[in-house]
Amino acid sequence: MSTIELSPAVKSFLASEKRLLIGKDWTGASSDAPIGVINPSNGERIADIPDAAAGDVDRAVKAARNAFESGAWPEMKPGARSRLIYQIADAMEARAEDLAQLETLDNGKPINLARGDVFAAVGAMRYYAGWADKIHGTTHNVNMPGDLHVYTLKEPVGVVALVVPWNYPLVMAAMKLGPCLAAGCTAVLKPAEDTSLSALLLGEIMLEAGLPEGVINIVTGYGHNVGDALIHHPGIDKIAFTGSTATGKIIAHAAADGLKKVSLELGGKSPNIIMPDANLEAAIPASAMGIFFNSGQTCTAPSRLYVHKDIAEEVIAGIVEVGKNMKLGDGLDEESQMGPLVSAKQFERVSAYIAAGEEGGAQIRSGGKQHGDSGYFMEPTVIADTNNQMKVVQEEIFGPVLVTQTFETEEEALALSNDSEFGLAGAIWTQDLSTAHRMARGIKAGIIGINTPMGADWDVPLGGYKQSGIGRENGRDGLELYLQTKSVFANL
Ligand code: NAD
Repeated sequence: MSTIELSPAVKSFLASEKRLLIGKDWTGASSDAPIGVINPSNGERIADIPDAAAGDVDRAVKAARNAFESGAWPEMKPGARSRLIYQIADAMEARAEDLAQLETLDNGKPINLARGDVFAAVGAMRYYAGWADKIHGTTHNVNMPGDLHVYTLKEPVGVVALVVPWNYPLVMAAMKLGPCLAAGCTAVLKPAEDTSLSALLLGEIMLEAGLPEGVINIVTGYGHNVGDALIHHPGIDKIAFTGSTATGKIIAHAAADGLKKVSLELGGKSPNIIMPDANLEAAIPASAMGIFFNSGQTCTAPSRLYVHKDIAEEVIAGIVEVGKNMKLGDGLDEESQMGPLVSAKQFERVSAYIAAGEEGGAQIRSGGKQHGDSGYFMEPTVIADTNNQMKVVQEEIFGPVLVTQTFETEEEALALSNDSEFGLAGAIWTQDLSTAHRMARGIKAGIIGINTPMGADWDVPLGGYKQSGIGRENGRDGLELYLQTKSVFANL
């Protein structure tokens, strides 16, 4: 075991009183019932965060509105905004180990994954820093009579509610903060109640890096409470949400009521198709890691395996073997490959799905039980002999649980894959180029991996078909979510 020491900065951050960031001040919430922050590796309470109330949300939205309408932010030239976002990225990098340690303590993920998350969050900020001074409209030769000069302006949409989940807390926040700042918007960020610590430290880092007052405000608390007040607040122009499809529907209703702009990155139940000619030496370990990575709490996880019947036994046995050999443990142990699930609630949810699979007649090939006797560790689990009518195949489990089925033809594999209300990602393993690209077209999902279980990069659009979301984050598409277009007709 090689457990790392917490940095002095992390120890003092944990010991400090957590507050809300409103304007330039860290202030207490008006409710006095804090939420305990639990380390999922051992169930210990490591800090408290405020459960903000509607009045706190109102103050935060007003601070964001003031910052959007007047003061340093709207006056700031694009180049200066770009430099500021670069400075934030540099400051995050300087505190990378502190951010990673907090993420591990709060979410449970192994420290090396958390370090990767910080790298990705910094990368996303730098990527969007580069966009801040490259935002421009168009000119048009129009057909109208007269002498007209017609052009478009790209303007920030206004005050944005950024609501993020607990599986990649810092990355999800950065993927929204980067384009939000680059576009010139202001925001109220609401991290998930289970994992708010890295967002709060990020707030300190952003202020120290020179973020003007009120541009980003942070409110913590429960979704049904502070989240609900935020998405319904009339001062919010747009909601950018990542989380479950069920909550996404609530957000979509709130957006419709207030006619707010909205982007939704939601759940997935992504198919992973292994054709008979696939390179199994690559496909088996990558398919296993795809579902077991981050304890299966990844929206794009290849969680439904469709494997050709001729190679099914070899593939399933191989994935079972990879799972059995994984080292589960406290995320602060650098040798841990898989941490716990994020919370007791998530552990119960995943356990209930495994039980439902068994009751439905599927075969638990491996795992399915708690690992150890403290914390919320679930063994890497493979459930074979499933069918598309089963709940474990149709619903997102969001744990280290793979469901498997066999197929005989390409058409059958595609039909099974597309028989889902989700459409976030999909993967195909084959050595035949034509099969690969034909099937990439055939899968109804927003992100396709060919001979890789999943892909993500801050320059490449990410988002879902069907009930996996509306809009695309990352890349230029991600920036456009925070901009609106004004058309100007000048009669010369
Ligand atoms: P969740 O929907 O429960 O919560 C997400 C966020 O919404 C949290 O901050 C929560 O407090 C808030 N929230 C909950 N109820 C709310 C309400 N009524 N009003 C306003 N806010 C509310 O999701 P989760 O369980 O935290 O995250 C896991 C889900 O996120 C999975 O379904 C996963 O697939 C999805 N996810 C999707 C992507 C993607 O890019 N598509 C990325 C990561 C996670």
